[in-house]
Order: sequence, then structure tokens, then C-alpha cells
Amino acid sequence: MPLLQFTEKGIYCAQGDFYIDPWQPVRYAVITHAHSDHARWGSQYYLCHSASLPILELRLGPGNYSTMEWNETTIMNGVKVSLHPAGHIIGSSQIRVEYKGEVWVVSGDYKLEHDGLSGTFEPVQCHNFITESTFGLPIYQWEPEAQIFERMQRWVQQNLEKNLSSILLAYSLGKAQRILPCLHSITGEVYVHGAVWNVHQALVAAGHQLPEVIRVTPDTDPARLKKAIVIAPPGADDSPWMRRFGPHATGICSGWMQVRGNRRRRNADAGFVLSDHADWQGLLTAVKATNASTVYVTHGFQSAFSRYLNEQGIRSMEVQTRFGEEEEEQLISQT
Ligand SMILES: [Zn+2]
Ligand SMILES: [Zn+2]
Repeated sequence: MPLLQFTEKGIYCAQGDFYIDPWQPVRYAVITHAHSDHARWGSQYYLCHSASLPILELRLGPGNYSTMEWNETTIMNGVKVSLHPAGHIIGSSQIRVEYKGEVWVVSGDYKLEHDGLSGTFEPVQCHNFITESTFGLPIYQWEPEAQIFERMQRWVQQNLEKNLSSILLAYSLGKAQRILPCLHSITGEVYVHGAVWNVHQALVAAGHQLPEVIRVTPDTDPARLKKAIVIAPPGADDSPWMRRFGPHATGICSGWMQVRGNRRRRNADAGFVLSDHADWQGLLTAVKATNASTVYVTHGFQSAFSRYLNEQGIRSMEVQTRFGEEEEEQLISQT
């Protein structure tokens, strides 16, 4: 029996009797990161990186949580388990599982570019690597973050000159924290949607150094929201919540903006190709660095990416999981 199996509840280690990012309630869940497609409600025990804990508690409520640091090891029924930085969002970790000399690594979501918040992605040698492939097509190539941020700041300045508010649509966990310093340096006043505020508060309470933000509430004076700089989750787009800002321009921060047409379809004024996932080259670099003899591909363009790996002489197969389902929507009703 393989050390890790793909079951109807999720990725299962029978020897250690635990699941990794299960999508149904189980007894023992090891969690790569706090996005809701990976960290689901209802399990009896959770193990995660210490930086994931405040967001897990925010999203799943009180529970039996234990935490580990990167490169720390715990033994579960003879199986060695350790966490390693994945560079995706705060606390995100790859999970290394070893039993009798056989090593598997579950990458969760990851990116290779260092964002100053999430830790630097660390390649881990293994026999079997389970990778995401959210952007597993050659058309996905990211520019360096600094260039994207420069463009974002120019766009906001132009909006200010035209007396428009700038509303940046970005996931409340990950992207919102990433773009915040770049926006904050413009006027020092960044307004946020309640979903972004909740995550921000949890992270600040846990000791993360983030620039201050102002929560938009029903009581916020509309006069103050003219020419405002605002971060809101993608689901707030076209909602009544947006109307309070008066004349505004909307910018979407997403890897999907790489594809022309997506921006038009979303009716946005600007698209910023910024992702918390690896691009095509990043995925290939990461896969090769593991030296894995078998690569399981999930989460995105798995058939294309898996086929390409096989053509390159890296044994690969695609697996179906429930990762990649929208990460954000349940928080959006909160204002
Ligand atoms: Zn994620
Ligand atoms: Zn994911």
C-alpha cells in the first residue's frame, strides 16, 4: 500500500492514520494552509504551522489545534511528519511524510517568488511529490512583484488625479496583505472590506507587522470615501457595498488577468497579474528540485501539466482532488 493514498475524504496516510487537507471531517487533519479549500471544518484534531493558527481559528472556530514550526519533526505512529515553507500565504507549508526510508511531499499551494510575508519556498527531496497546477500552462509567466506594484501605484495616482476612488479586488487572505504596503505608502490611508479586516485583525493580534487599515462600516462618512484607496475581496465586485465609494475605478489582482478577455468579462478597469501560485516555469523548477521519481498533479491544469512532465521523462499522473474550489466566498457577506 502506498504511504499516501487518494481517498474520498482526502489524502490519507494509513500508517500514520492522518489526512492532509481533508475535504470531509476526519479524526486527525494535517493542514498545509488556511485557505478554505484546504482547511475545512469538522475534523477532531488539526495540526498546522503556528502562523496558520490565527486564521484557522477565525475560519473554523474553536477546536483542537496543535502547531509546529518549519523543519520541526513529529512522529505519528512511526511516520515522521515535518512542515517546510511553501511561500504561498502566511503559514503555508509543504508537508513531508517519511516512513521506512520512503518520502512523500504534499506541496499544498506554493509560489517560488519571495513575498516578504509567507516564507521562502524550500525544495524538499522526495520520492513522490504531490503538486498543484493552478497555472500549469506555458502562457502563465509572472513578472517580478516590484514591477506589478509600481504599475499599481501609478494607476492609483492617476485615479486620484481624476478624483476617482481606487478599489483593488484581492483575496482577503494572502493577496490583500501582499498589496497593502504598496498601497499604504501612497497616502497612509487604506480602507478595507470587513472580510479583509477580519483577517488583518487576526494576523496583527498574532504579532504580524502589517500597516494599519481602516474598516469600512455603514457608519463611515461617505465624504471620507471619496478618492479612497480600498481593498475588497473579489466577491464584493458589483455589489451594493461598492456603491458607497462614488465614482471609482476597479482593479483586479489575480493570475487569471494574464489571459486577455478575463478583465473585460469582469468589467474591471485594470488587471494586475499578481498570483500567490507558481507560474509555469515555477512549477517546473519546483518539481525538478524535488528529484521525485513520481509526481502527482492536481488542482488546475493537471492533465496538461502531467502530460508535459511525462514527455520530459518525469513519471507523472493526474489525481482528482477538491482543492482549488473558490477560496473566498463564505466571508464576503460580512461588511
Ligand atoms: Zn491556497
Ligand atoms: Zn488551493
